[in-house]
Amino acid sequence: MRADDYKSARSSSPVPACYTQPMTSHVRARGALHIHTTVSDGSGTLEDVVCAAHAAGLQWIIITDHNSLALRARAGWHGDVLVIVDQEVTPARNHYLAFGLDHVLDHHMTPQAFIDAAYAAGGFGAIAHPDEMHANRFKPDVYRWDDWHIDGPCERAGHACGLEIWNWMSDWSEGLSRWNVLPRVMNPALGTRGPTPATLAWWDRLNMAGRRTFGFGGVDAHALRYRVPFGQVEIFPYRRMFGTLVNVLLLTEPLAADAAVATRQVYAALGAGRSFVADQSVGDATGARFWASDGAHVAECGATLHLHDSIRFEAALPGAWLYLIHNGRVMVQARERLAHSAARAGVYRLEARRRNRPWLFTNPIIVEDA
Ligand SMILES: [Zn+2]
Ligand SMILES: [Zn+2]
Repeated sequence: MRADDYKSARSSSPVPACYTQPMTSHVRARGALHIHTTVSDGSGTLEDVVCAAHAAGLQWIIITDHNSLALRARAGWHGDVLVIVDQEVTPARNHYLAFGLDHVLDHHMTPQAFIDAAYAAGGFGAIAHPDEMHANRFKPDVYRWDDWHIDGPCERAGHACGLEIWNWMSDWSEGLSRWNVLPRVMNPALGTRGPTPATLAWWDRLNMAGRRTFGFGGVDAHALRYRVPFGQVEIFPYRRMFGTLVNVLLLTEPLAADAAVATRQVYAALGAGRSFVADQSVGDATGARFWASDGAHVAECGATLHLHDSIRFEAALPGAWLYLIHNGRVMVQARERLAHSAARAGVYRLEARRRNRPWLFTNPIIVEDA
């Protein structure tokens, strides 16, 4: 969304008294993904990460060490935290999060080849931090996704394909300099601007073209430690990172006690776009609501409705400015509660901001002509 769009959209009509709650999902499961441990270049063990996830109130995490599944044997429930172990395929550029595979992909292959290999083996995946832009003295390499024509396997039909629309570390470290590094460490909000406009535009274009793509936020947690004159500092411990981007899954049942079943629930919700990402450092958005109704059916994120007459969208998040986005453009904005009827097909999603900070991005609800 362009900055101008936030200002130019006009508020919708007041929410009617018959404001209703959707009943398609009953359970919300908060989790984080894109996490590195001592197996690759993170500073924490699996125990450290689980402990931090528990303290942050997360119910599931996906560990994605670089080119490794070394912790796979330890996947499963660790107390009340479901640990899923996957991999970040890590060539020099073009990083890719591959899910549900039992072997490590060869990161020397071209991006299209390792993506095809992931799907051929029954997995699926997501492009990581596609839009890193500038190197700096703290981050000498830019890990962009080079070819934005590649977004999934060659045979894409029927497969879940994902895009990391918001990578917290990429966002925070963009534009880092010797002058702003300390203020940004002390107050990370100074460095976070949300998903880049180019990433959101790419994501919208894919969904508008019928190439359904789920979006999510990655913390890219490393808990890196640096030597300083008085000892060692840890930049963004896991616990702190888990207080930033969480992905809230919209489920019909709680995560199962059987870890294999629960893992499939997480994959299914993520892959279908039944989730939204929120920066919890802005505020707790777990209870945010966004749904659409054609009068007969109610749809939440990831679902499709067919347009007969009009579709009514409703959203609610206390303390937020809400933006209903249609095909990449702000259609309407409202404070805390939004209600709007639309008579056009397209890709509809919700963004929320608070005190001018990016807060929440939902996966889209798709409206197709009947
Ligand atoms: Zn990466
Ligand atoms: Zn990473």
